[in-house]
Amino acid sequence: MIRFDIISIFPGFFEGFLQHGVLRRAISASMVEVRVHDLRSFTHDRHRTVDDRPFGGGEGMVLKPEPIAAAVESLGVAPKAERNLQRESVVLLSAQGASFTQATARQLTLLERIVLICGRYEGVDERVSELIADCELSIGDYVLSGGELGAAVIVDAVSRLIPGVLGNEASSEYESFGNADTGPTSNGTPRSTYGSGGLLDYPHYTRPQEFGGLSVPEVLAGGDHEKIRRWRRERALEKTLHNRPDLLEKAVLSPADRAFIKSIQPPSC
Ligand code: SAM
Repeated sequence: MIRFDIISIFPGFFEGFLQHGVLRRAISASMVEVRVHDLRSFTHDRHRTVDDRPFGGGEGMVLKPEPIAAAVESLGVAPKAERNLQRESVVLLSAQGASFTQATARQLTLLERIVLICGRYEGVDERVSELIADCELSIGDYVLSGGELGAAVIVDAVSRLIPGVLGNEASSEYESFGNADTGPTSNGTPRSTYGSGGLLDYPHYTRPQEFGGLSVPEVLAGGDHEKIRRWRRERALEKTLHNRPDLLEKAVLSPADRAFIKSIQPPSC
C-alpha cells in the first residue's frame, strides 16, 4: 500500500480524478490511499493567505513557505534531515524539477508514503525545496498553471505499477518504457520478441476488422504467434525510431532488430 498526501490550494481538483478506472479500483482495494490537503487550512490569518509578493520585484505572487511547512509537519513526516528516503519522500512539483519518467515512477513504488506539494502562481518560495522537499519533479518541458496536474500524473503512473493494481502484472512490463527484456538471452535475442525493453509500445487493433478503408494487418488475424511477435517487435522499433529515436540508444536490441532498423527509412518529420 502506498499513501499519497497531496498539498494544494485547489483540493477539489482531485475529486473526479480519483473516482475512475484503475485508480478508483486501487483505492477501493486499499492498495493505494490518496489524501488531499487544503493548503489554506494551514494559514492563521483572516484571509487565509498562502502567497506574497516576490523579493526583488517581478511578476506574480509566490507561495509562502510557512503554510507548506505546517502542512507537511501535520502529516507526521519526519523532518528532512531525519527522513528515511527508503520509506517516504516529499516531492515538490516544479517546471524546474528533474524529469518524471517511468523509471522514476518505478522507484517511487518502493516507498510507503509520498507527499506531493503543488505550486501555483510564479512558484514556491525556494526554501521549501531547500528545507522540506527531497526532490523537485517536472512532468514535462512546459509550464503549467499549477502542480495539481503533475501530482495527478505521478499518482496515476506510480499506482498502476504497484503489484496487484493492474491485475495482469505483465501489462506494465510489456508496454511503452516497460522493464521487460532487460537483457538479451545467451544467443543475443531479446527475451521477448515484441515491444518493451525500452521501446515504445507496438500498435494495437480491435474490431471492426475494417475501418475508414483500413484493414487490421493480416498477420494479426493469422494465428501464427511467432509472426505476430516479430511483426509487433518491428512496429515497436519503427514507432520508436520515428517518435523517440533517443530511446533506441538504451534499448535492448538483437542483431535482427539492428538489421531491421537499418533497413527502414529514417523519419520524414
Ligand atoms: N515560474 C515558474 C517557472 O518558470 O518555472 C513556473 C511556475 S508555474 C506557473 C506554477 C506551478 O505549476 C509551479 O510551482 C509548479 O508546481 C507547477 N508546474 C508548472 N509546470 C510544471 C511542470 N512542467 N511539472 C510539474 N509542475 C509544474
